[in-house]
Amino acid sequence: MSVTYNFCAGPAMLPRAVMQKAQSELLDWNGLGTSVMEISHRSKEFIAMTEQAEIDLRELMSIPSNYHVLFMHGGGRGQFSAVVNNFLGQQGKALYLVSGSWSQSAVDEAKKLTSEAQIGSINIVENTNDISKVVIPNLNEINKDYRYLHYCPNETVDGIEIFDELESPWPIIADMSSNIMSREIDVSKYALIYAGAQKNIGPSGLSIVIVRDDMLELPSLPQSSIMDYRLAVQHGSMYNTPPTFAWYLAAEVFAWLKVSGGVAAMAKTNLDKAALLYDFIDSSDFYTSKVSVKNRSVMNVTFYLANEALNSEFLKQATDSNLVALKGHRSVGGMRASIYNAMPIEGVEALVEFMKDFAVKN
Ligand SMILES: *Cc1c(COP(=O)(O)O)cnc(C)c1O
Repeated sequence: MSVTYNFCAGPAMLPRAVMQKAQSELLDWNGLGTSVMEISHRSKEFIAMTEQAEIDLRELMSIPSNYHVLFMHGGGRGQFSAVVNNFLGQQGKALYLVSGSWSQSAVDEAKKLTSEAQIGSINIVENTNDISKVVIPNLNEINKDYRYLHYCPNETVDGIEIFDELESPWPIIADMSSNIMSREIDVSKYALIYAGAQKNIGPSGLSIVIVRDDMLELPSLPQSSIMDYRLAVQHGSMYNTPPTFAWYLAAEVFAWLKVSGGVAAMAKTNLDKAALLYDFIDSSDFYTSKVSVKNRSVMNVTFYLANEALNSEFLKQATDSNLVALKGHRSVGGMRASIYNAMPIEGVEALVEFMKDFAVKN
């Protein structure tokens, strides 16, 4: 049977080795004679697993000791409201940078929960001649008292990534749902990082929050207890029953990342994978990328066929060649190849071969 390469943006493919291990221990985890799904989250075996997961994540991302690591419910979107409710209080203001559809959704959610005047937003993407280019204003010139600056360094739908570290006078909150651990970052530059798990970490339903301890002193709004960072810290992310299977699988992905050389090794392979695909797209008249070279996402490669009438044939033949889930998001059309950490370079090579072949035949 030939391998299927799954380019889905999320829930995305997971490392094969992790899936095989999970399969082998599905009915008998840790010699308990039962699945990890069927045991108490307060059992000593489960707690030991969560402690190792945190140690591994801290090591993988070099997370400083003044940061808490939380394993929460509610995916990426859950955090859109959590940051507002945890940090804004009745009076606080926040600034949002908008670079695509996810950061816009974060603004919409924030406005729903506050008075409009509390949320400022700046669009940082210029669209000229079909090319999207990120232009970040000098934030130090904005003379306002914001509790935090929110942005999304990798826009999963649009395929736009911001690689430069921001210079911000306010604490930075980053939605890294689709690029966490895809490359090395300096966690100490951020007040809070969050990520829904289903792109680069594990199954959906879980989100990871990395929060600097001083942020928890800000006044919060009344909110649902399960999304309260302070309660999550006090209860070791177990105020209520956590998504245990997702947590276990995330722990397995962290262990896999460590034996695979960690984030530095991933970053190198990710750059190679992205270069292979973008170089081919640039060399061909048949395909185009609409994102300026400087902001092309390494994780989500969006591209278009010059003749859009061929889209459905392209997708059908790709699927027949075991290259699945290449359809672009409904809001932007075209194609999207999501090539997260779990995607081996062979998958991208197979995609480029298919694209070459399809171009020649059409
Ligand atoms: C997928 C995604 C989300 C939303 O995640 P859910 O778990 O579906 O809520 C938010 N932000 C970014 C950048 C994403 O890629």
